Amino acid sequence: MSFLSRAIAIDGPAASGKSALAEQLAARLNYFYLDTGLMYRAVTNQALARAIPIQDEAAITQLAEGMRINVLPPADGVTHSFSVTVDGHDVSAQLHRPEVDRNVSVVSAYAGVRRAMTAQQQRIAERGCIIMAGRDIGTVVLPNADCKIFLTASVEARARRRMADRLARGQQVTWEQMRDEILQRDAIDSSRSVAPLRAAADAIYLDNSALTLAETVTRALEIIRARCGME
Ligand code: C5P
Repeated sequence: MSFLSRAIAIDGPAASGKSALAEQLAARLNYFYLDTGLMYRAVTNQALARAIPIQDEAAITQLAEGMRINVLPPADGVTHSFSVTVDGHDVSAQLHRPEVDRNVSVVSAYAGVRRAMTAQQQRIAERGCIIMAGRDIGTVVLPNADCKIFLTASVEARARRRMADRLARGQQVTWEQMRDEILQRDAIDSSRSVAPLRAAADAIYLDNSALTLAETVTRALEIIRARCGME
């Protein structure tokens, strides 16, 4: 298979299925996949661990600027899709805890935090053959990506999936809690002044409310093929 593209951007709201899609695409295309949400989660987790008040923008920015975050294939291949290390320590198991979920959108709205993460993400993308998922990949991080997909789904479908996710992790949650959390996170992510959640002008929308993961992958491959000239 020859494939001309070097960078594929997948953006979309919370729980739209970006990670599941990107993982499958990366395996099919033999690309490296970076879930940028993990990096914002790592900063949030570190701030919570050090008891830095989430409203303290200056302290959290300084923290983010000094953090060396590595996102690698999983150590055990089972529990997490990635191993995330911060200054050499594996923090993967902490990144999806409810406290991080509740605070990550506030942390990721800070301009200095975004500057630090964007710089790290652009450095990682230099290796090429990359699929990057997030909120601002097509607009800010990789504006010249060869193919941009904006993945979306109804809030009902997203809350249902996020609930299944959380239950599988052993967290007791309700559908209503998941819906409210998703809506709140989307509202903060979409309304922030720096790099808000937004589809790039040249992104292709893909609504997977009524699609299985396999159907979403098929549809995404069609988009990539049409956009990037894969044979
Ligand atoms: O993708 P995930 O839900 O793990 O992202 C967690 C949070 O990280 C998002 O709600 C958003 O606040 C932030 N984020 C961001 N920009 C990205 C990726 C994630 O602001 N590129």
